[in-house]
Amino acid sequence: MPYDPENVFARIIRGEIPSDRIYEDDEFIAFRDISPAAPVHILVIPRREGIASTADLTESDVPWTGRMVLLAARIAREQGIEESGYRLLMNCGPNGGQTVSHLHLHLLRRSSSRLPLRLLRRRWSSPRRPRRWWSCRKRLPPRRPRVRGWSSKRRVGW
Ligand code: AMP
Repeated sequence: MPYDPENVFARIIRGEIPSDRIYEDDEFIAFRDISPAAPVHILVIPRREGIASTADLTESDVPWTGRMVLLAARIAREQGIEESGYRLLMNCGPNGGQTVSHLHLHLLRRSSSRLPLRLLRRRWSSPRRPRRWWSCRKRLPPRRPRVRGWSSKRRVGW
């Protein structure tokens, strides 16, 4: 993924568009994701421009990327989610789900329910029309009826 100097995070860094910042220093900015996939969804980005994704990293980037991870852990502690646990995530490229071409780290704390992130994204990103989790079941293909007397071996391969 090539670096686009007009990407949304570069514009946030330059102050051209607003963000819900929770931390910033000379090196990094952390702000709330505009379309949260979980109850806590924070993005940590480096101020340095030109690095689109992990694919652009080299050995010389090890110190600051390490500091970025430590910063995310510190923010998690300050947000009170260290104990409950959280997820740090970096998407790389279109097939990795990356949409913004400026390296960024997602800090996510799932809801206490065991819904997968895919469903949580729908659940938390549409405040106008919240989706009930059980309505997602409708999207599953209908279950095959259980046939009495079939061994579990015969069911393998369905
Ligand atoms: P990714 O899909 O890994 O590239 O992540 C990009 C993230 O940036 C998505 O979760 C978006 O919701 C988020 N995002 C896009 N625009 C903004 C914005 N203006 N402010 C905050 N988060 C944003």
